[in-house]
Amino acid sequence: MSDFNQRNDARHTATHRTEKIINIPSDANGRPLKVTEFYGKNVFDIKKAKGIPESVKKEIIEVSISGKLLQKEHAEIVAKSVTDWAISNGATHFCHWFQPLTGGTAEKHDAFIDINGNNEPVEKLSAAQLMQGEPDASSFPNGGARSTFEARGYTAWDITSPMFIMDGFHGKTLCIPTAFVSYFGEALDIKTPLLRSISKIDRAATKFMHLCGEKDVKNVSVTCGAEQEYFLIDKAFVAARPDLVMTGKTLFGSLSAKNQQLDDHYFGKIPQRVLAFMEELEIELYKLGIPAKTRHNEVAPGQFEMAPIFCDSNVAADNNQLIMAMIREVAENHDFVALLHEKPFAGINGSGKHLNWSMGTNTGINLLEPGKEPHSNYRFLATVAVIVEAVNRHAGAIRAAIAGHGNDHRLGANEAPPSIISIFLGDTLTKIFTAIGKGSTFDPGRNNTLELGADQLAHLLKDNTDRNRTSPFAFTGNKFEFRAVGSSASIGFPLSILNAAVCEVLTESNLILHELLESGKSVDDALHELTRKWITSSQKVIFNGDGYAKEWVVEAEKRGLPNYRTSPQALEVFNDPVQTKFLLDSGIFTKNEINTRYNVLLEKYITHREIEFSTLKTMVNQYVIPAAITYKEKLSTVIERQKNIGLECSVEVELYKKINFAMESLSVNIINLNNKLDELGEDEAHKASTISKALMPLSEEIATHCNQLEDLIDDDVWKLPKYSDMLFLR
Ligand code: ADP
Ligand code: MG
Repeated sequence: MSDFNQRNDARHTATHRTEKIINIPSDANGRPLKVTEFYGKNVFDIKKAKGIPESVKKEIIEVSISGKLLQKEHAEIVAKSVTDWAISNGATHFCHWFQPLTGGTAEKHDAFIDINGNNEPVEKLSAAQLMQGEPDASSFPNGGARSTFEARGYTAWDITSPMFIMDGFHGKTLCIPTAFVSYFGEALDIKTPLLRSISKIDRAATKFMHLCGEKDVKNVSVTCGAEQEYFLIDKAFVAARPDLVMTGKTLFGSLSAKNQQLDDHYFGKIPQRVLAFMEELEIELYKLGIPAKTRHNEVAPGQFEMAPIFCDSNVAADNNQLIMAMIREVAENHDFVALLHEKPFAGINGSGKHLNWSMGTNTGINLLEPGKEPHSNYRFLATVAVIVEAVNRHAGAIRAAIAGHGNDHRLGANEAPPSIISIFLGDTLTKIFTAIGKGSTFDPGRNNTLELGADQLAHLLKDNTDRNRTSPFAFTGNKFEFRAVGSSASIGFPLSILNAAVCEVLTESNLILHELLESGKSVDDALHELTRKWITSSQKVIFNGDGYAKEWVVEAEKRGLPNYRTSPQALEVFNDPVQTKFLLDSGIFTKNEINTRYNVLLEKYITHREIEFSTLKTMVNQYVIPAAITYKEKLSTVIERQKNIGLECSVEVELYKKINFAMESLSVNIINLNNKLDELGEDEAHKASTISKALMPLSEEIATHCNQLEDLIDDDVWKLPKYSDMLFLR
C-alpha cells in the first residue's frame, strides 16, 4: 500500500511552510511607520475631513450623538468630501455595509463611476446614495417579516459609526455602515435595535446622573470591549477534513494524549508563524482604526485571543465584525484557517467572546468605576445594583440572546460558563451588599470591614475581582464581563437585550430616586435605599461559587434561575409574552421583530444541524468505514497467514472483533439517525427540539464510535487529520 494519503500530505505541507512576509507600512524611504502614523488611515475622520466647513462638522458630530437627522445639504457636503477622500485613497466602489440577521455582514457594491450630462465619465456619490440604499431584502433571512411586509427593505447610513475603506484584490471599496430596515421601519438587521437600545440607555442613564447631582452630564454611552477567541489551523488540515470545511468544527476526533492538561499554552511563547499572523492582523486593524491591544495564546493548543480597547458599543459591534472578517482573511495569507466556531474540538476548550460592558458619560465618568469619594461610591453601588437586578429579571432573555448551535457545545460543558445566567460580584462587593441588604448603615470610613472612603473601595475591588473564571457574568473591577457569548456571535444582539434589561431597571430607578429626593432625602441616602431595594430583590442571581460544579445546577434550580441547556429551549423565551415584555415596552424591539428573530435563529439552528448530520454521515461512509475495511483486510491477511502456519493470533483476532463491533454500532446509529431525520416533520419548533433532544445524542454516539475506530486503526490508513496533527503541527 502506498504511504501517501491526504493526511500525510497535509502533515508534510503544514510543517514545511515558509514564513510569510508581511507588508509593514513604511514611508518613501522604507522607514517603518509608527502605529500612530498609519492608525485610522482607512477610516474617514469627519473631524479631519477636507471640504467640510467647521459648522457642518459640528452639526455632524452633534447629530451623531443626539441621533437627530442630518440636513440633506449637509449630507451632500459629506458625500462629496468622503468621495474625494475615498477616490484619492484608491477606492473605485462604495457599498452599504450592514448586518443582516444571519449574524455576518452584507454588502452590495456600486462603482463611483457615473456618466454626466455631457456623456463624460465622472466619479461621484450623491447624498441620496450615501444616506440610503436598496439591497434586495428577499435574499436575506427575515423569519417571516417579509410575508407581513414588503419584500424590499432599505439601508440607512449610520452616522455614528465611521465609514472605512476595505482593500480588495486590485481596487478598494468605501464601506458605509448602515442599518437595514423594511419600508415600514421594521428592523431587518442587528444594528437597528442596538442603536435604539443605546439611545434609550443614554436617556435613562443621563437622567440618572442628573438625579445623582451630575448636572453637567450631557450623554451616557454604553461602552464595550469584546475579547475575541479563535483557533488557527493549518489550511492543509482543514482542506483534508470535510467537517471543518462544511461546518467549521470537527464532528469527531480522538483526543490527543496531550491536549491542555499541562496548561502550558496560555501565556506561553506565541509560535512564530502565529506571531507573524497576529502582527499583520494588527496592522490591518490599526489601518481600520481598531485599537487592537492584547494578543496571547489561549488555554487550548492552537487557540488564541485578541482584544481591542473598548469604545462606544455601536462602534464596538461594527469593529467586532471587522475583526472577525480580518482574522479570517489574514489567516488565509498565512496558510491558516481561522476557526471562529464555539467548539471546533471536543474535549478541549471552546471559544467565546467576553463582552466587557459599562456605561460612560461625556464628562469621562465610568459609572462602574468606584470613585475617589464616598459620594461617587454610592452612585457606583447603585449602578451595580441596577445591573444585578436587570440580569436577575431577564436572565432568560439574556441566555436566549446568546443561543446558537455552536454555543450549545460550549455552555455548560465543563470548561465554559454554564447556561445558567448568574452574577459574580466578588467578596468585597458581596460583603458590602450583604451589609446594605441587612440595613446596616453604609458608613464610609468608620466600619473597618467596609472601608469605603477615598480610593479604598477601588483598591479592594481591584484585588478582589476576576478570580472566578467560571461565572457567565462577572464584575471585573470597573465593568461587567459577559462571558457566555459565543466566539462567532454578532455582539449587537446580546448587547441590545442586555441594554434593554438595564434600561428597564434604570428607568424605574429614576422614578424611585425622584420620589425619594422629592421627599427630602439626600442623594446619598436615596441611592443607598435604591441599592438596598435592588440587592434585596436580586439575591438569587448572585453566585460567587464554582459555576462548573454540578451542585450549582441543583442550587440554581432551587433558586428558581432558568437553565436553558439548548438553543431550542432558550429560543422559546422569545415566544413568551411575559419574558419579552420588557423588550417591547422599552421600544427597542417590536413584537414582530422579536418573532422574526425567533424564526431566523430557530431556522439557523436547524439548518446548521442538518448540515452537520449530513456531513457526519458522508464522513462515516467515505472515510471511517473504508479505513476500517482497509485495516481489517490487512489484519485478516495476517490472521490467515498465522493460522496457516499453525500459530495463535489472539491479539489480531481480538482487534478484528473490536473493529467489527464499533463498525456495527456505527451502522446501527447511522440507520437510527436517518430514520429520525425522516420523521422530523415540518413544524420548526418541534424539529429543533427533536434535533437537540434525540438527534444530538445520537450524533455524539456516532462520534464516539468513530473515535474508537480512530484509536484502533493503523495510523497509516487513517486519512483524516487527527487532533494531534491539527493542534500541534505548524
Ligand atoms: P481581562 O482580564 O479580561 O483581560 P482587560 O483589562 O484586559 O481584562 O480588559 C478586557 C477588555 O475590557 C478590553 O477590551 C478592555 O478595553 C475592556 N474594558 C475595559 N474597561 C472597559 C469599560 N469601562 N467598558 C467596556 N469595556 C472595558
Ligand atoms: Mg476577560
